[in-house]
Amino acid sequence: MPDFLSIAYFEGNFVPFAQANISIATHALHYGTGAFGGLRGTINPQNPQQVLLFRLDRHCKRLSNSAKYLHYDLSATKIYDVITDFVRKNAPTKPFYIRPFVYTSDLGVAPRLHNIEKNFFVYGLEMGDYLSPDGISCRISSWYRQEDRSLPLRGKISGAYITSALAKTEAVDAGFDEAILMNSQGKVCEATGMNIFMVRDGKLITPSFDQDILEGITRDSVITIAQNLGFEVQQREIDKTELFIADELFLCGTAAKVTPVKRVENYHLPQDKPITKQIKDSLTAITENRDSNYQDWITVIDL
Ligand code: PMP
Repeated sequence: MPDFLSIAYFEGNFVPFAQANISIATHALHYGTGAFGGLRGTINPQNPQQVLLFRLDRHCKRLSNSAKYLHYDLSATKIYDVITDFVRKNAPTKPFYIRPFVYTSDLGVAPRLHNIEKNFFVYGLEMGDYLSPDGISCRISSWYRQEDRSLPLRGKISGAYITSALAKTEAVDAGFDEAILMNSQGKVCEATGMNIFMVRDGKLITPSFDQDILEGITRDSVITIAQNLGFEVQQREIDKTELFIADELFLCGTAAKVTPVKRVENYHLPQDKPITKQIKDSLTAITENRDSNYQDWITVIDL
């Protein structure tokens, strides 16, 4: 079991994590009508009395937008206030992950979003590396990412994660670490909870927003960091076969940070990954508030 932070925000109050429980009849549990966020908290290496949150504004805005898709009016400001209070009340001492969740909390049956009670909770857990930082192997999934015409892919809708779960388990069962999903057009989309970047001829290339990707906050950060380092970044369709001949490939996300890919299917990628390393080191320095150029990406919370 993960090490949960001791206090959760539940039904409008801060309560011990063990008391934050929902009924088996909860509507969202049955219909996937929830949406979540996920952000990492870092203990400031220069001052253990401070927690650093990366791009908190963006995370709050995305969750507020996800709530809109569920017909739930929850402002980014409210989410921001709850998350910062949540961190102060828990006063964590190790790296952690915050999971805010909006959902249909009613106990009735029948899938719908109207005339139904919604709610919002936040809990946290300690989190180290989600994937091996040294690099991973990826399978091309036989499962395809959903299409935006079927569900709002810009929201992190909980029900949508069945596809990620199927793809991840299929990959692990086949001896791989992660899965890369294509979109319905057969173009490269993303991994089970990470966006993807490829390096070819010194340029970074990542699928564009019209490829049914999640609008990842790490992806957005990597683009800015890469451009500031002087790299060209292209956002476009990517063919599967480009992955096999890429100079470098990496996944990125809040949990995965920047994770190099060593192998796709049976294609081994070059061991030397200088651009991935540069981006990764830069992102680490930013999240630890060691880069003054990116201070506006960091929320400092005094414990
Ligand atoms: N794609 C999916 C499907 C995800 O769940 C995540 C994790 N939130 C990402 C990409 C990466 O997004 P972010 O960088 O905002 O964590």
